[in-house]
Amino acid sequence: MSRVIGIDLGTTNSCVAILEDGQPVVVPNTGGYKTTPSIFAVTEDGKRLVGHLAKRQAITNATNTVYAAKRLIGRAYDSPEVARARDLLPYKLVQGPNNDTRVEVAGRVYTLPEISGIVLREMKRVAEEYLGETVQQAVITVPAYFNDAQRQTTRDSGRIAGLEVLRIINEPTAAALSYGFGRDDSEKIVVYDLGGGTFDVSILEMGKGVIEVLSTCGDTHLGGEDFDRRIVEWLLEDFHGRQGVQLGDDTMALQRLKDAAEKAKCDLSQVQSTEVNLPFIAADAEENPLHMSALLGREQLEELVGDLVERTSSICQRALEDAQLSVDDIDQVLLVGGQTRMPLVQKFVAEFFGKTPHKGVNPDEVVAVGASIQASMLGEDQEGPLLVDVTPLSLGIATYGGRFARLIERNTTVPTSRQEIFTTTRENQTAVKIRVLQGESEVADENDLLGEFVLSGIRPAPKGDPEIEVTFDIDANGIVGVSAKDLETDQEQSIEVNPRGLLSPEELEKLADEYRGDDEVAVKG
Ligand code: ADP
Ligand code: MG
Repeated sequence: MSRVIGIDLGTTNSCVAILEDGQPVVVPNTGGYKTTPSIFAVTEDGKRLVGHLAKRQAITNATNTVYAAKRLIGRAYDSPEVARARDLLPYKLVQGPNNDTRVEVAGRVYTLPEISGIVLREMKRVAEEYLGETVQQAVITVPAYFNDAQRQTTRDSGRIAGLEVLRIINEPTAAALSYGFGRDDSEKIVVYDLGGGTFDVSILEMGKGVIEVLSTCGDTHLGGEDFDRRIVEWLLEDFHGRQGVQLGDDTMALQRLKDAAEKAKCDLSQVQSTEVNLPFIAADAEENPLHMSALLGREQLEELVGDLVERTSSICQRALEDAQLSVDDIDQVLLVGGQTRMPLVQKFVAEFFGKTPHKGVNPDEVVAVGASIQASMLGEDQEGPLLVDVTPLSLGIATYGGRFARLIERNTTVPTSRQEIFTTTRENQTAVKIRVLQGESEVADENDLLGEFVLSGIRPAPKGDPEIEVTFDIDANGIVGVSAKDLETDQEQSIEVNPRGLLSPEELEKLADEYRGDDEVAVKG
């Protein structure tokens, strides 16, 4: 039987690990790095690049270099997040047939599962090169706060990469699994995961042989990318003030700025002040070159991003409340994700939870390591702790008057299933439409629509008479299934909730075929 690998498919960086002789090993890529940028590019001569190679050429090929695509997964093209992304990202976003978001690179439109699939295929290749054998199965991690659509899209990405996804697990849960590996203490821990694109916090109870998630909360649109953006805006303003020139429309200049902003941010985790120097960033009216030179101090940076860090506060608060715990009950706080290297973030966490965060885990690798531990448990049927996770969002349906009827509350242990009887609202109504939603608002439309289906063939009857039983399932991956049945006619209709932008099995197979064996191969057109 071939090995099962664990992949952390990050917004910014991805990482792959495997268990060897009972010990987790993070697999370095050919360049020797243990993480690989989640970046895909097509060069001018049609070459597909992934990872460091793609990152290295981003400045000169910004419009055909796709980064942070994970932030767009499962989001409608006409949503505010995508509208903002369209303004900020150098690559082109286009509307898919179901109002899903796609990207155009070098004249070709790619779906988002395809982009993630390309990154996953690269991680698969990294593992295969190390192992010297092919890999077919994987455990892939997702932000805990990902909804059903985002989880399904991730699973599809795996299929496109030629991987059977044995399990999707939550990133903070994976981190806890890694932390708990070989440990036997009973304790309550918090995982605070601030990466490039998303923020998650999970509270877990670690015990003998059991790891139980008590609650989870997060924001799938909060991360290091937002910090970088604040610095870019500050640099743009500073440059405009000094030179009277707006750089806003120059793609290459903006890409250089973004790069420099991120670098300055990372530097300021070590030092108190840093210089941003970008020679020849623009030209004045007489075509004389203009150079950017700005001094950024740590305090200034903290002022620019203070509210972003503060935003994690109410999210941590809600996670504690949902777990019915107070900060005094917490034994350890784990920091995960590159952005937690920032001193301000560490200070915030220490103050909020009243204790110094645990220093023992590598914030870049711990999630992939946890995935590999889970992978080996699923693959070779080995012993391991029982992992009990929860669903991050409440699940329900839209009812009369646009209300949201909650069937499964957030933070319910998964897998779970729930049945409810619904009825008609009009005389002789023969069909009902079931709209499946995920979210916390009482107003149906403010939640995420996962899908809708029609149950037809209801026998004509006075309103309120028919009994329609709707069953909701959430599996161990956090993926939703719904079915409905007219209890009198026994007519059943089962759907796999099909959110925006999901590809059909045929389309997935076709794409998997196309990318099979396509490692940096040159394609025309
Ligand atoms: P993801 O899980 O989203 O792929 P990572 O955990 O790799 O993300 O974190 C990437 C983010 O962490 C980036 O925004 C990066 O700029 C930031 N980061 C990395 N190192 C540092 C550092 N030393 N100080 C501040 N931020 C950092
Ligand atoms: Mg991460």
